[in-house]
Amino acid sequence: MTGRFAADAGLMTIDQALARLEARLAPAVGTETVPLRQGLFRILAEDVVAGLDVPPHDNSAVDGWAFRHADLAEPGKLPVVGRVAAGHPFAGVLPSGGAVRIFTGAPMPAGADTVAMQEDCKEDGDAVVLPTRLKRGDNARRAGEDVTSGSVVLRAGTRLRPQELGLAAAIGRAELPVYRPLRVAVFSTGDEIREPGAALPPGCIYDSNRFTAGALLRGLGAEVTDLGILPDRLEVIRDALAEAAATHDLILTSGGVSVGDEDHIKPAVLALGSLDFWRLAIKPGRPVAIGEIGGGEGTGTPFVGLPGNPVAVMITFMLIARPMVLRLMGATDTGLKRFAVEAGFACKHKQGRREYLRAKLVHADGRLVAAKFPSDGSGVLTSMVWSDGLVDIPEDRGDIAPGEMVEFVTYAEMMR
Ligand code: AMP
Ligand code: MG
Repeated sequence: MTGRFAADAGLMTIDQALARLEARLAPAVGTETVPLRQGLFRILAEDVVAGLDVPPHDNSAVDGWAFRHADLAEPGKLPVVGRVAAGHPFAGVLPSGGAVRIFTGAPMPAGADTVAMQEDCKEDGDAVVLPTRLKRGDNARRAGEDVTSGSVVLRAGTRLRPQELGLAAAIGRAELPVYRPLRVAVFSTGDEIREPGAALPPGCIYDSNRFTAGALLRGLGAEVTDLGILPDRLEVIRDALAEAAATHDLILTSGGVSVGDEDHIKPAVLALGSLDFWRLAIKPGRPVAIGEIGGGEGTGTPFVGLPGNPVAVMITFMLIARPMVLRLMGATDTGLKRFAVEAGFACKHKQGRREYLRAKLVHADGRLVAAKFPSDGSGVLTSMVWSDGLVDIPEDRGDIAPGEMVEFVTYAEMMR
């Protein structure tokens, strides 16, 4: 088989699938420079190096009086020889034995090394009585204590959150180089699938997958083209995929990847490029088709075909499509953060298969406990609405008893 995805017999674990994705996908989009305000949630395309110290000068962390620590002796009374406010440096050097009225953020006068908080001081005519127990350097912030000039403050591949934008601003950057948004085409497939708002003939159901998948993609920062619903007809699917591939960086479909007679996604992708069919060792949502349309050996448009069942779509999106999207967008951290919570339920677990349980976090006697949705059906979207995230049960774990610790991934991770 050609392309980035070689076929493998049998079931594949999530870790094996992720290792293949990591190894074979590289950023698929170009870069552009955007003003900071447009940078939120974009992926940084180059390392950012600080051209200055932050803070740029020693400064006071409080409102109070600055002085030389060496001058501090009982009863701590020093004459006040000047005043320095933020943005207005002190002219000259602080004379020995004097104190300067200072405000938060104001540059430390040359010679001063310590600041006493005004709440701890007492003004006495032209002098101030300082507390005598201060240590040298107290309440003074050193130049470069946050960032040193010449250091890499942000790495290429970082997703820009408000704090990354703030740090870029703090070193004086007005613009940042970022990857262009990933253009993703989304289709649903199935003769029974209908658009919400349209009439629903007998035997049909409304499309939910294009709405969950489209929203998840937008949440990750992709530019989504919603290409509607494809019928279960090989030629129609093939032509639609070929057309979409010409103008997109990734194609995502749902449905039609099982092995039934009406599952035409695989032959359609195979006719246009290469395909790997991954039967994942997970519950729910096993089949996922990964491939490439057009080109050869990594030059085509990546393709991901998710299963049809609405819950399986969301879970396989989180596990497989999300890291694909992030890698293609240039992101380096594609892992899902998980944390330990107590199981508030009992659950039989079949070993050899990784299981994802829809769970809600509740507080019980000060502990964080995961409650499990009663049904495991992979079409039950109400379970996703009810729950906060997924309990992740590894392949080799036995049955779960109430009170055991389990790993939890919140749904917020789906769009991060
Ligand atoms: P399939 O993989 O095409 O056999 O679909 C599996 C199940 O998911 C079937 O019950 C489909 O009707 C259902 N399904 C497929 N696509 C969608 C969709 N876009 N929205 C809601 N349900 C779907
Ligand atoms: Mg179908």
